[in-house]
Amino acid sequence: MLKIGEIGWIEKDRPACGPRDAIVKPLALAPCTSDVHTVWEGAIGERHNMILGHEALGIVDEVGSEVRDFKPGDRVIVPAITPDWDSEAALRGFPSQTGGPLGGWKFSNFKDGVFAEFFHVNLADSNLAHLPEGMSLEAGVMLPDMLSTGFMGAENAKIEFGATVAVLGIGPVGLCGIAGARLGGAGRIFAVGTRPAAIKVAKEYGATDIVSYKEGNTVEQILNATGGAGVDAVIVAGGGAEVMMDAINVAKPGSVISNINYFGQGIGDEDLIPLPRVGWGFGIADKTLMTGLCPGGRVRMERLAEVVTHGRMDPSPMATHVFKGFDRLEEALLLMKEKPRDLIKPVVLVEQ
Ligand code: NDP
Ligand code: ZN
Repeated sequence: MLKIGEIGWIEKDRPACGPRDAIVKPLALAPCTSDVHTVWEGAIGERHNMILGHEALGIVDEVGSEVRDFKPGDRVIVPAITPDWDSEAALRGFPSQTGGPLGGWKFSNFKDGVFAEFFHVNLADSNLAHLPEGMSLEAGVMLPDMLSTGFMGAENAKIEFGATVAVLGIGPVGLCGIAGARLGGAGRIFAVGTRPAAIKVAKEYGATDIVSYKEGNTVEQILNATGGAGVDAVIVAGGGAEVMMDAINVAKPGSVISNINYFGQGIGDEDLIPLPRVGWGFGIADKTLMTGLCPGGRVRMERLAEVVTHGRMDPSPMATHVFKGFDRLEEALLLMKEKPRDLIKPVVLVEQ
């Protein structure tokens, strides 16, 4: 990211490795819709000459003198979020928010990201995980952010067995929300979106009903299908600021609205995200709004790898566009910006 609205290639020095850190070379990289918000919407403010990217698998190139569990040559999963595990926020149980809001999100936010020939990982023993033997790169590269975020959406939604869930947005994040809702015991799952490739995978991951927000009002469609009752949980994973109106209007009293959308823009000059007064039960109908940044760190990645290794969910169908070679990154990122109808997620494989 050269500046808001402009990307390009840049030469930088190889990063230095601290005693508890690692320097990693990429094996597989994936652009994220968050990179698109960051560059083309300026969502987190101006960034100059910052290397983008936060979704990677890699090979360890160098480790600091105090690193115990990793050595050069190890194949690793690199979480999108690499918290400072000894910080006050982490000790309170919110490691993704270390050092201030979103502070655990370092790559392509507060420091250079992973779209580089070498990148720096803080606290290697706590923030890297070994890539299991036999896991494909296309599947593995979905763990650092897509599975972690989508599953958090379901975890935060407090889904009970048999619960009815609506997932607003079925890009790769929402699709993982659907898979997470099914693993968490949901009964009926409404998937809201229109891209055909995503609809196919949504059904494979457990969606029972597909709703197009383009062909009628989302809330009316779901209320009609549920006899006016609405849903027990909502996972918000797409749409602009106004999507929160739908999310709250479709939720039953006692439900949780679990937002994982990164709102690149608000509404109007005051940059607001609206809530419906009546739909929210005048603010007092026990409709709980949960939010969260992707969980990071080693244990989270190891747990997600267990989900995949034991066949509970296969992330690979989300890799609809696979590019070979580091120099194809720009193409992949622009594809994520354009969002063609057959796209779920582009992946770049880097030979090492
Ligand atoms: P995509 O752009 O691939 O998918 C967005 C989805 O939202 C699509 O299915 C789209 O439908 C749907 N959509 C658009 N408008 C509406 C609407 N009005 N109502 C319902 N659905 C709608 O995004 P990703 O899956 O890659 O990412 C989703 C969000 O998650 C992004 O904001 C991203 O930045 C954020 N994110 C958040 C993270 C976190 O830590 N919390 C981490 C990673 C990502 P259609 O099928 O028509 O295109
Ligand atoms: Zn991401």
